[in-house]
Amino acid sequence: MRRRDLGGVRWIRGAPDCDHSVDPPLQAVAVDDDTFVIRQSKCVHFEAPFLCLLVGSERALLHDTGATEDAELFPIRRTVDELIGARQLELTVTHSHGHGDHRAGDAQFADLGSGSIAPIGAEGVAGFFGIQGWPEGGSVLDLGDRAVDVIPTPGHLDDHVALFDRTRGLLLSGDTLLPGTLTVRDWNAYHESIRRLARFARETASRGHPVRQIVGGHIEMSASGELYELGTTYQPDEAPLPLSVEDLFSLEAALEDAGKTPRRITGDRFVVEPVAASENGPSRNRGRAE
Ligand SMILES: [Zn+2]
Ligand SMILES: [Zn+2]
Repeated sequence: MRRRDLGGVRWIRGAPDCDHSVDPPLQAVAVDDDTFVIRQSKCVHFEAPFLCLLVGSERALLHDTGATEDAELFPIRRTVDELIGARQLELTVTHSHGHGDHRAGDAQFADLGSGSIAPIGAEGVAGFFGIQGWPEGGSVLDLGDRAVDVIPTPGHLDDHVALFDRTRGLLLSGDTLLPGTLTVRDWNAYHESIRRLARFARETASRGHPVRQIVGGHIEMSASGELYELGTTYQPDEAPLPLSVEDLFSLEAALEDAGKTPRRITGDRFVVEPVAASENGPSRNRGRAE
């Protein structure tokens, strides 16, 4: 099957004047017939999150629903229904974590049967996925000929999970690892989560299912590695979305170096930014980093 390389995609990236932008409210890119990465427009919401739709033979999985509830402004439900098309599948909606920019679109899926939309909060998430011993444990979701590993990754937020699609080698890392600011509220939990993810990456490679691309929840950096101003609605020269397993290993090594004391870490493709657990984001900005 032909697969599109996500590193080469030109995403919608906002506009200098959103009132005159002709971009669509979202952009769905087909990696292949059953795998879609969807970006919300920065002109609809500055967070401009990335969402993923994975289609198996029995079930479709939408991971995250975007930052906007209103279907007129952000038609995520209609888009997902169109991408699934005539295929008769159950739809499950999950979240990378409970921040509003990853779940506001849940409202458009309110008609789905009970148990179709994952709750938020670590306890509810663990129960939904059947994870024993959060956060050390994990689980596997079977979409029908498509196994997806669920790996708890608290730290950015306490209910964060990463998903790994073994069939495509895609690690959906949400706000735990992305090209931009990695906002850490619980330093020790985050460090453990990155160790866990790195260990998972080594193990799955040894089983013949290597991590080929890491897909995070946002792009917040330019191609030359500079962070965009938080809250911007225009990112003319964005970094590519996917990170590599080497980026994960370099984050793991940087956290080992940093040890127990939270501190800012500047990498080539990400910046680790510790914040107080009660804070919504780095204090130098107006509550971003969701
Ligand atoms: Zn977040
Ligand atoms: Zn986010």
